[in-house]
Amino acid sequence: VRPFLDGFDVDFGGYLDDPTELPPGERLAKFAGQLCYMSFGERRTFNAVAKAYFENILAQGHGSVLQHVNLTFLIYGADRSFTHELVRHGTGTAFSQESQRYVDGKVLRFVARPEFVADPEELALFEQRIDRTAAEYEALAERLRLKMLADPTFAALSRTEQRKRVNQTARAILPNETEACIVVTANVRAWRHIIEMRASMHADAPIRKVASKVLSILREEAPLLVGDYVVDGETASTPYRKV
Ligand SMILES: Cc1cc2nc3c(=O)[nH]c(=O)nc-3n(C[C@H](O)[C@H](O)[C@H](O)COP(=O)(O)OP(=O)(O)OC[C@H]3O[C@@H](n4cnc5c(N)ncnc54)[C@H](O)[C@@H]3O)c2cc1C
Repeated sequence: VRPFLDGFDVDFGGYLDDPTELPPGERLAKFAGQLCYMSFGERRTFNAVAKAYFENILAQGHGSVLQHVNLTFLIYGADRSFTHELVRHGTGTAFSQESQRYVDGKVLRFVARPEFVADPEELALFEQRIDRTAAEYEALAERLRLKMLADPTFAALSRTEQRKRVNQTARAILPNETEACIVVTANVRAWRHIIEMRASMHADAPIRKVASKVLSILREEAPLLVGDYVVDGETASTPYRKV
């Protein structure tokens, strides 16, 4: 940024020496927003009042400024129905999800819903069910492997391709309770929308928990970009929806 600012006849020299430090995301978003009006001189909004600056951005709905700030999360211990809901948020997001075709039964895990965890009988039923499912999955995969190996076309395939063909058929019997690890990156504008949709009483409990956790981390990493949210347990609301 410094060579850029130094290239003007106007004195923008002090911009990077603002005595108030901002977290990196807020610094980037504020710079991007101020570039729109070339507000780098003495009369600019200083970092000390960045809170008011971002409140105005939120109130005016200038959400593109928030798109410069991206946060990535590794989410595990969440099941396939959760990821199915999460990946519907395709705008401003990137996902890398564990493949049930490449990954075989050795790393298979299952996730108990909070309702089951809270009830010992339902938890016992869950445990019996996943033991049964894991055993059935293994037996089916073995049967498919043996049957396919008898076919010379299959036997000639690479080991990876063979594994994929077995797994893609065997996974048909896996339930929604199967864990699906996922890495998700989203910009703050997209995260805000996800939080508004999912940190809501209308959302399912697992995705509500994740949305609420993401908000609590955002409040540490980029507090001024989410300072408008009112949090109540695992739900959050804001006067500035869909910025
Ligand atoms: C409580 C709840 C219940 C739900 N129930 C169901 C259900 O029964 N069945 C079901 O199928 N889904 C359901 N959904 C999913 C929901 O319909 C959305 O698909 C999901 O929340 C993703 O949000 P989004 O569409 O805003 O997408 P995002 O990717 O988060 O998009 C953000 C915003 O970008 C804009 N945008 C994105 N794509 C386009 C586009 N193609 N054209 C124009 N503008 C676009 C929209 O303004 C959108 O809101 C449910 C969601 C919730 C929260």
